[in-house]
This record gives sequence, C-alpha cells and structure tokens, in this order.
Amino acid sequence: MTCPPSAEPAIRVEDLWFSYGRRSALEGVSMEVAPGSFAALIGPNGAGKSTLLRLLLGVLKPQKGEISILGRKPGHQGQPIGYVPQGIRLPRGFPLSVQDVVVMGRYGNLGFFRRPGPQDRTRSHEALDSVGMLPYAERRFEDLSGGQQQRVLIARALVADPCLLILDEPTAGLDPAARARFYGRVCDLQRARGLTLFCASHDVEDVAQHAQVLILLDHRVRAMGPPQ
Ligand code: ADP
Repeated sequence: MTCPPSAEPAIRVEDLWFSYGRRSALEGVSMEVAPGSFAALIGPNGAGKSTLLRLLLGVLKPQKGEISILGRKPGHQGQPIGYVPQGIRLPRGFPLSVQDVVVMGRYGNLGFFRRPGPQDRTRSHEALDSVGMLPYAERRFEDLSGGQQQRVLIARALVADPCLLILDEPTAGLDPAARARFYGRVCDLQRARGLTLFCASHDVEDVAQHAQVLILLDHRVRAMGPPQ
C-alpha cells in the first residue's frame, strides 16, 4: 500500500503542555511534520520525548494545546498509525514465532473475537518480506538478534497499513552497523510507501544522516530544521 498525498501535515502540535503531577514534561510545544518526511526527535534523557510520543499515540491526553494526526485527533479509530517500540518482552514459557508476533499487528483490524484468517497471514508475510525477514517467519522471536527483532517489529507495525510510523528509540542496544542498516531500511520503506517517519532517538549522528528534519526537544522545542 502507498499513502495518498495529503495537503494536511502528518503531525501538527500547537502549544502542547503536559506534566506528571508537579513534574513538568512538555511546556508549550509546537511543531509540524510534513507528510512523507522523516523527522527525528532528539534531546537529553527526561526531555519529554516519550511523553510526546504517548500523546501522539493518544495514550495520554494533552492538558493544554492541540494535536492533529493526519487531520484528526490522536487515537481516532482506524487511524493509520504504526508504532515501533524499543522492544517487546514476551511472556516466559510462551514461545511465539516471528509470524505470530507480526500477526499481532493485525489485531486492530481484526476486531474482537475474530481469529486471524488467511488474509491476515498473507499480509504478515508481505510485511516480513518488505523488511527481509520472511525466511525467519517460523523461527522463535526470542531467538533472533536485537536487529532482527527490530525488523520484525517494523513488520508488525506495517501490517496495519500505516501512513505514519512512530518509532521510540528503535535502535537502542544495536551496534553501529546494525543501526545504519536499520535506518537504511526504514528510509527505503519511507520512499516506497510515502510513509511519514517520526522517530525519537539518542543517535543524533545516525538520524542526522537520514532524517530531513531534526527536532531538538528539551521540554520545549529548542531547535527544528534540516540536520545541517
Ligand atoms: P524522555 O523520553 O526524553 O527521556 P520522558 O517523556 O520519559 O523523557 O520524561 C519527561 C519527564 O517526565 C521526566 O522528568 C520524567 O522523569 C517525567 N516522567 C515521565 N514519565 C513519568 C511518569 N509515568 N510519572 C512521573 N513522571 C514521569
């Protein structure tokens, strides 16, 4: 699937405030991310990056300010957003195959009590193929390397046909070569599908090579623009 061109920004945030009790996380954050672009959110620990991602995903609600994702409020049903976490921890003694983990990404499309059908399996295979992990479909997820697990988590996000992919420190724990391969791969997907990428990262050097826009966050937006 390719994402239709859009006149709306993929992400628009206006004067966003959020605090946990008296601990302030975001103070008047405003930004726009163009559709089809790769924007990287950088900043020190505790800067509010994860809080901003949780607000974009609709897990937290703004205390003040507005967020619009592809022209709609966060958490809107059927909104094509994919989420790639730092990693997932599977319950012990419950060995899931790579394919099982990817099919889990279809649950949003499946609705309650519907079991995955042939179409869900096909979509999962396509998504695994797009990240070069189809040969591993029957392997146990927990036996894969960190880099391979991240590719499977991208596939899991892609099966819902997102136009916006939100990534939270996706290369934490990977070595430099694996990080470069990871970003090369997501950029290929960005171009092929017209995906918007919004990625929180510590690896300023890595994302600066791939992203079109860097957003430096430290409770507020301190700087925003092309990497150079
Ligand atoms: P980052 O992802 O950039 O490290 P966070 O969004 O996790 O930043 O944190 C921003 C601030 O909010 C920090 O001061 C952090 O301690 C605080 N914070 C984050 N999550 C919680 C929480 N669940 N409860 C209380 N404070 C939190």
